[in-house]
Amino acid sequence: MAFEIVQQELNQKLPSPKGLALAIIKACQREEVTAAEVSDLVQTDPALSGRLLMCANAAATGVRPEASVNEAVRRLGLNTVRQLALSFSLIDQHSSGSCREFDYGGFWSHSLLMALAMQEIGRLQQVGTPDDLLTCGLLSQVGRLALATTYPLEYGSVLTQGAKGPQQLQLERDKLQVDHLQLTTALMTHWGIPQSLVEAVSFHEDPLRSKLPSDSRARALCDALHLALKIADYALAPQPTQAELKPGLIALTNAAQLDAEGFMALVERVIVQWHIWGQTLKIQTPKITGFEAVASTATLPPPVLHNMQLRVLVADDDDAARRLLEVLLDGQSDCVVRSARNGQEALELALEFMPHVLVTDWHMPVMDGIDLCQALRSSEWGQGIYILMLTGAGEEDDLVAAFEAGVDDYLVRPVNRRALSARLHGARRYVQMREAWVRDHAQLAQMAAELTLSNKRFKLASHTDPLTEVSNRRAGLLALSQAWSSATRRGSPLAVISIDIDHFKRINDTYGHGVGDAILQNTASSLRKYSRAEDTVCRWGGEEFLVISPDVGQDVAMRTAERLRLAIEHSEIDIPGGSVAITVSLGVACWEVGLQSVESLLSNADAALYEAKGSGRNKTVVHSAEPKDR
Ligand code: GH3
Ligand code: MG
Ligand code: MG
Repeated sequence: MAFEIVQQELNQKLPSPKGLALAIIKACQREEVTAAEVSDLVQTDPALSGRLLMCANAAATGVRPEASVNEAVRRLGLNTVRQLALSFSLIDQHSSGSCREFDYGGFWSHSLLMALAMQEIGRLQQVGTPDDLLTCGLLSQVGRLALATTYPLEYGSVLTQGAKGPQQLQLERDKLQVDHLQLTTALMTHWGIPQSLVEAVSFHEDPLRSKLPSDSRARALCDALHLALKIADYALAPQPTQAELKPGLIALTNAAQLDAEGFMALVERVIVQWHIWGQTLKIQTPKITGFEAVASTATLPPPVLHNMQLRVLVADDDDAARRLLEVLLDGQSDCVVRSARNGQEALELALEFMPHVLVTDWHMPVMDGIDLCQALRSSEWGQGIYILMLTGAGEEDDLVAAFEAGVDDYLVRPVNRRALSARLHGARRYVQMREAWVRDHAQLAQMAAELTLSNKRFKLASHTDPLTEVSNRRAGLLALSQAWSSATRRGSPLAVISIDIDHFKRINDTYGHGVGDAILQNTASSLRKYSRAEDTVCRWGGEEFLVISPDVGQDVAMRTAERLRLAIEHSEIDIPGGSVAITVSLGVACWEVGLQSVESLLSNADAALYEAKGSGRNKTVVHSAEPKDR
């Protein structure tokens, strides 16, 4: 449904890239486009050049800053350049519009904030490349803009109703037949954003509904986007709304295993970036406050085990009884006491005083002891308070209700010093055990986070060839089996190119292993540079490489292979006192109906490569039933 609407209205009202951005997107869609061609296009627009340089430099922390557009385009990759050109073009064209109830400027402020938060979260959790994450965040709410541009009046009336979350989506579908998430998904798909990102975006407002496996990359992306969304929502909300959003945001930062310090550092980096980017993209970036409140509540209570001070809150409406308790508690050397005259007052004081122990009267005006107890127990921080209920003699039978409301123990009036001491002894033990538990729990969470991180690093290392830094054989096999199942499922083409350096042994023998290694590195980087961004280049073994090209048929694969061959033939490698040039032989094979397995595809490519070697080297041969040189 949504996609049909996109199709129908695409050339009319939906946001779509124009001018130079459109030219770049079209160029990047051509199979044989080169980075040089794209950077020529980019350089016709100084603003776009500057923005792309900024992206390339922001993404490559720790690398020398880049000053040439050419290199920036190479470093970012064509896919990213396309996505960024698209985003920038949308921002420029839609800084205002005809839907009066839609805040265009606010929309982009929010989107940019979300994009940068996504980039930071993604960097911490290693869920994707920084530029993918930036676009993903920037475009994940673009369906709202689409509704505003396509149906300015109708969407305006939806907005005035002030619905949120699922109700808002329902209202959009009722009035406009399509909701902003469906439109976002359809547009992103139409613009060629990778499906893995689109999938995460389509569920990011409510990840629990997604049913994505909890250990999948898509789910990690989806959760990261959700957190980015909530950070942006919180940042731009007025103060009363911030108070409502705070508990949810704290829960999310806990789930993301961000401690208070880590969270504040993240938010600060995001806000700084937001102001910088805001200037470049002409997006308004008002001053943001309120994150300290999130961080301070998220902070775990400081561990105090020995010589701890017990904070005791007393709630009693009877002045004399309250005084007596204050005096008795003051007599205990380690107690700090505050008191309140009813449940409501006690609740407010508790928020500020954070008591370890509450001693409360049962019957009080405004809010009684039972209600106070229930209110405390319903909040997370209130669950750790040790609650003592005061009862009159003979009232013990009623205590069941008190225990049900969450009371830990009781004290019979008139309270005497000995009974109070005994109860406080129990309270102290409980508080100490709980604090030890909280500390252990935090340590465990930190250990788990570190483990996940080192696991991810290990995974990355175990998929990369250390000499050439392209994928290793294991990663190549993985990519190939994914490409194979996607091709056979969708009936789309798939090509592999097997590449072997000619007379490499001779080069090693003549110039030494060091030069041999440099040639391997150089060859790998040529293969990366002159293949498409969607291709996987891997070192298959020794001096043999494999390029996996999804969605590519025989003719294009042949042209790609020839481009690779010529590029390598013409690139010279500097060695002491001169330079060396090498050649490669290539075998191309494509998936065709009837081909049974990945192995048969590989063996066809090998047969073609063998043929190329046999017929003089520095050649490309395409496998066919009757192999022939080309
Ligand atoms: P052909 O044109 O038929 O492919 O001949 P060739 O000499 O390239 O092929 P052969 O398989 O006989 O030799 C491959 C050489 O690659 C042998 C091996 O020492 C060398 N080699 C494999 N891995 C590395 C490496 O990591 N570094 C270096 N310097 N050489 C390597
Ligand atoms: Mg060789
Ligand atoms: Mg070989």
